Amino acid sequence: MALLAVDDVTVRFGGIVALSDLSFEVERGQICGLIGPNGAGKTTLFNCVSRVYQPTSGSIFFDGEDLLSVPAWRTAAKGIARTFQNLALFPTMTVAENVMVGAHAASRQNWLTAALRLRTHREDDQLRSQAWELLTYLGLQDIAFRPCAGLPFGTLKRVEIARALAARPRLLLLDEPASGLTHAEVAELADTLRAIRSDFDLTILLVEHHMQMVMGLSDNVVVLDFGKKIADGTPALVREDPAVVEAYLGSG
Ligand code: ATP
Repeated sequence: MALLAVDDVTVRFGGIVALSDLSFEVERGQICGLIGPNGAGKTTLFNCVSRVYQPTSGSIFFDGEDLLSVPAWRTAAKGIARTFQNLALFPTMTVAENVMVGAHAASRQNWLTAALRLRTHREDDQLRSQAWELLTYLGLQDIAFRPCAGLPFGTLKRVEIARALAARPRLLLLDEPASGLTHAEVAELADTLRAIRSDFDLTILLVEHHMQMVMGLSDNVVVLDFGKKIADGTPALVREDPAVVEAYLGSG
């Protein structure tokens, strides 16, 4: 059984159809790329899977369970974590505290509640040591006690990944992790994603415009255009698909 199954999902915002009868599956342990032009509906799909938006119609199954019937605040506890296109870290909190927020979110409610709890309760030793392990794993230990505000963008992207991992997810949704990174940082990120997939037993859904990275990393690629799926297959197949070349890849 697929870990994630999106079944006939439609999302309308007034007159705008952001997703139209979208169906695809992500197998356990896969890295699945989700690509398409600006406005194709990629972030909207992330917002449905992470339960920010309720689809207008359709179903989403996570590990066989009807995800849309699970209360939205339990999404992290179910094993789904995400990062954001525009970073969503708490700037005045330290790197370590931001990562601990992720760990709290898995067992409690949303990030804001988790952040408040962290500030008002004694820190839990187990959470602290889990956060420290992750920071070390991702090479962030030297900046663990610095506030996020003012740290380089590429570093903050790694902190977001650490925070998502702290929730011990089975499915990780990454929204444009390579955007704004240097060439060297993108290569490093690709290595990190390969490593965390196997070391943390993860399934990854990856929205990304950096074609070299997404094609190099993904087992399967789903292509959206104007909210509709126009292709779904291996990177080699998708890259050659005339509809994908016309809608998105162009001559490049
Ligand atoms: P990008 O690559 O630029 O991030 P995307 O593929 O992620 O684009 P979405 O952000 O999902 O695309 O947007 C899909 C469509 O839905 C767009 O037309 C967008 O304007 C619209 N849309 C998304 N969120 C909302 C909202 N909250 N209210 C109204 N329209 C929305």
